[in-house]
Amino acid sequence: MRAMILPALCRLDDNPTPLHLAELPAPEPGTGEILVRVSACGVCHTELDEIEGRTPPPRLPVVLGHQVVGRVAALGPGASAFRFSVGERVGVAWIYSACGACEFCRSGRENLCADFRATGRDANGGYAELMVVPEQSAYRIPDRFTDAQAAPLLCAGAIGYRSLRLSGLQDGQHLGLTGFGASAHLVLKMARHRYPSSQVFVFSRTAAEQEFARELGAAWAGDTIDTAPEPLHCIIDTTPVWRPVIEALRNLAPAGRLVINAIRKEDADKEALLGLDYPAHLWLEREIKSVANVARADVSEFLALAAEIPIVPEVQEYALEDANQALVDLKARRIRGAKVLRV
Ligand SMILES: [Zn+2]
Ligand SMILES: [Zn+2]
Repeated sequence: MRAMILPALCRLDDNPTPLHLAELPAPEPGTGEILVRVSACGVCHTELDEIEGRTPPPRLPVVLGHQVVGRVAALGPGASAFRFSVGERVGVAWIYSACGACEFCRSGRENLCADFRATGRDANGGYAELMVVPEQSAYRIPDRFTDAQAAPLLCAGAIGYRSLRLSGLQDGQHLGLTGFGASAHLVLKMARHRYPSSQVFVFSRTAAEQEFARELGAAWAGDTIDTAPEPLHCIIDTTPVWRPVIEALRNLAPAGRLVINAIRKEDADKEALLGLDYPAHLWLEREIKSVANVARADVSEFLALAAEIPIVPEVQEYALEDANQALVDLKARRIRGAKVLRV
């Protein structure tokens, strides 16, 4: 099978073609696994983090890609034919496998398992014609999406869904979003649908994003250092820096919760944390929670919600062998729309 493999870590600025086209033996599905013939795979910022070593794959070479749509090509031994049949369309997301036995796995929080393995990092992913995956980590794709439209929903959408769920928002309460990238756009759409009486307040550093937030139905949009017109019950932070965390805490109502949805925070503005003021930022039972990975239920519940709303991503397609170009364009934030490889 053809695959784009990552043979070595590097900085994309030094090496704009980190992935190499290779011919690999077709993978064989093991016990409880299915073989998927890939038709589309989304390109995510996390792939940049993997290539540049911020979340490095444990073994190289590896096939990246964790927003995979394809069709079941074969069932491994013990894969239950009642779950998927050959030819069925499925999606694969960031969660590849977890131990299945620990306290987190037994309570639907397999995203927190010490043995959490990620698709396209700890196991080969979807930048290839074929991949294998445990059957419980594959999901049916609602009919209303094309393969390419469904791919980007499998990452930013599912994680956005988890962060909204962890925010504990109830209908009528005020939601804040600080940072307004792909995941936050989706959260705004989800929140408007699921909590129709709630108002959404968006903090963003650019006027264009603030304008876009208002177009999507935000009640208010301002700079990350502005004060919202109302205290907010929950705020979801998707920025990679610290200053918005302090500013968000200041905007929380008593008992409000800040959810940080960021795989890591940069050290560059860490001194902003010295501005933390206990009475203004934490007193009155304000809380902070991070969001890590996704559980399987987040993916399946979000796909159903996305079909219901509907959320149909704007996509820009690349051929599999042009994966390097897609990554360079993603890093340069060239051209709007989620990037998807056609396999
Ligand atoms: Zn991703
Ligand atoms: Zn576990």
